[in-house]
Amino acid sequence: MLIELKKLNKTYQGAQPLHVLKDLSLEVEKGEFIAIRGASGSGKSTLLNVIGILDNYDSGEYWLDGRLIKDLSEREAAEYRNRTIGFIFQSFNLINFKTAVENVELPLFYQGVPRRQRHEMAMEYLDRLGLKERAQHYPNQLSGGQKQRVAIARALITHPQLILADEPTGALDTVTAREVMALLRDINRSDHVTMIIVTHDLKVAAETDRTIHIRDGEVVLD
Ligand code: ADP
Ligand code: MG
Repeated sequence: MLIELKKLNKTYQGAQPLHVLKDLSLEVEKGEFIAIRGASGSGKSTLLNVIGILDNYDSGEYWLDGRLIKDLSEREAAEYRNRTIGFIFQSFNLINFKTAVENVELPLFYQGVPRRQRHEMAMEYLDRLGLKERAQHYPNQLSGGQKQRVAIARALITHPQLILADEPTGALDTVTAREVMALLRDINRSDHVTMIIVTHDLKVAAETDRTIHIRDGEVVLD
């Protein structure tokens, strides 16, 4: 089992506390290709952020690859995250003043990989994603689909066990969305990377092996 959530609860504190995840339990095996669907505001991004160790939860348990993820220090969380998890976002989250290849190199920079080596690895991944010729382009010189492929290369370069994608096709046209989904599927098969993809798009969900429905912070259908 790669992911085990046991009766997870999370409340956003504030003037009006909001109980977002409610006794949520979920198990994900290594190598699964999963969609998470649910209405806007149902807690999908919150769930993904908890799984991605970007955010804490209040009660319950979160086991990732046999390790209890609870009360980690900032440093431990970042360490574990960088080693284990890759992220893909709807808005790509590329750094605009860095070229495509520099964006892809970034996670390796944080891991202390020497400059030349990380450049070579980044070029390999760009090549794999069909973007070798675009390596020196800046994000604003790339199409949406190309930007997302750069972001996928960046997510893959650390060989994560798990890729978390929050509406990865949300900003793309239908044809490009299909291409990106096909790419994620290929990567899932060839690299045995577990993929969890948040989407409101039925067609995108239909291309995965399993769809988890979230309503009001609870799993209603799996
Ligand atoms: P989804 O991704 O399914 O649209 P979210 O997980 O983003 O849902 O949000 C779930 C609920 O929590 C929403 O009502 C949202 O407004 C609220 N919310 C999300 N993030 C925060 C936050 N940082 N602080 C307070 N409330 C939040
Ligand atoms: Mg969301």
